[in-house]
Amino acid sequence: MCLCVWMSACGKTERSNTAGDGDEASATATIDDHHAATEAAADSGRQSASRPIDDAPHTVPSTQPPVISPVATEAQPPRTQPPAVLPPAALGEGRRDTESDNGEHGGGSGAANSRTRCRGLDADYRWTGRRQASQWVPGLYPGGRTERRVAALTFDDGPDDDTTGALLDILAAAQVPATFFVVGRILDSDSHPLIHRMHDEGHEIGNHTFRHARQFDRVMGVNSAHWVLAEVELCEIAINLALHTETTRDFRRARGDVFGDLHWDTSPEDTVAAYPEIRDRYELWLADRALNPRRSAYFRPPGGAPFYGGSDYAPAIHNQWGDAMERSGMLQVLWHRDTRDWELARRNDEDEVFKLTLARLLEAIHQGGIVLMHDRSNPEIVRAALARAAEWDDVQFVTLEHFVRQEFDCSLEDLQRELSAVAAVAPPLGPLVVEPEAVSPTD
Ligand SMILES: [Zn+2]
Repeated sequence: MCLCVWMSACGKTERSNTAGDGDEASATATIDDHHAATEAAADSGRQSASRPIDDAPHTVPSTQPPVISPVATEAQPPRTQPPAVLPPAALGEGRRDTESDNGEHGGGSGAANSRTRCRGLDADYRWTGRRQASQWVPGLYPGGRTERRVAALTFDDGPDDDTTGALLDILAAAQVPATFFVVGRILDSDSHPLIHRMHDEGHEIGNHTFRHARQFDRVMGVNSAHWVLAEVELCEIAINLALHTETTRDFRRARGDVFGDLHWDTSPEDTVAAYPEIRDRYELWLADRALNPRRSAYFRPPGGAPFYGGSDYAPAIHNQWGDAMERSGMLQVLWHRDTRDWELARRNDEDEVFKLTLARLLEAIHQGGIVLMHDRSNPEIVRAALARAAEWDDVQFVTLEHFVRQEFDCSLEDLQRELSAVAAVAPPLGPLVVEPEAVSPTD
């Protein structure tokens, strides 16, 4: 039964595989490209070993554009129509067939005449507020000044059956908001109540892709936008199925009905090929229940790639990522402070891990900005850090919207509206042609 394949793949055994990979690349106020590149190289090796790409170029059905709907973080009133679906792919009309040589986003779209309210976000999806050429899509990146002791906590790679519940208890007791960047494939029966708690207790839920694969571009080549977009949308579908089902039994059934036999190690090509049918089943599932899908405001790329460690990527690769992000309607969120809790957790001495991670978390909160942690870290570290930080008179724990307002000078709602408008008019991606020889990272 298809469901069983998917369910077993989402279990703890496989999840520990991800946990053991190490995670996000390092960045404090500056970018540690060297570290990221090292991780990237190791990760790339693992991926290519587990997911070989056919030697012969071939085509798979074109990825359809995502469903774009009004963004909301709360439950929406019932609707009577299925979500709007954009026109079929206009093959060969990819808008970025010309490339600048500095990795910037090229091309233009029909949204060019629309006015924007958010600073730096022009109608062509270029982000004029970027500080580096590699920041080619709108997002929250490190750089610039951050206010001391004004921090947004973010937790990646969850929900974790063992730790996220305790973490939520601690955040609730301290009345501290957080953003959880969840991985779609690990949303299962055990974690179903946890994502409901995140939502109900006022935390933001962000998209961290369906299976937390990294180095998309190195695997898929110049057509990686298809896979990136499929990964983003599949995660979004998983989040919606979880939030729109009240019982774990309903969720399990919905997930099996919609995802079919897709599982965590389905190849990129097969994932891209399967996505349109999954999306069709998902839309029917929504329509049958008169549900309006929720749309995540924020997206965080696994490992921070290709932004971290991406300086060696060819402009065509950057553009592929930009094409996917543009169609997602989400804001890419990196971080100012990486506690590197994933790295410390590898040490054997638990007391040492606790002390070092606590020290780094406190330092990150003290410096302020977007702080990167992971669900799977010992939640008692967060408890201790929040207790210590509470003794500081001027500490503030804010949501990511605080940084949206600083960066774009508009509300999150306005930014979402503008990103969604751009996504709605972006032409569908052209046909996927996998040409491994065309993969062009420069190393
Ligand atoms: Zn991650």
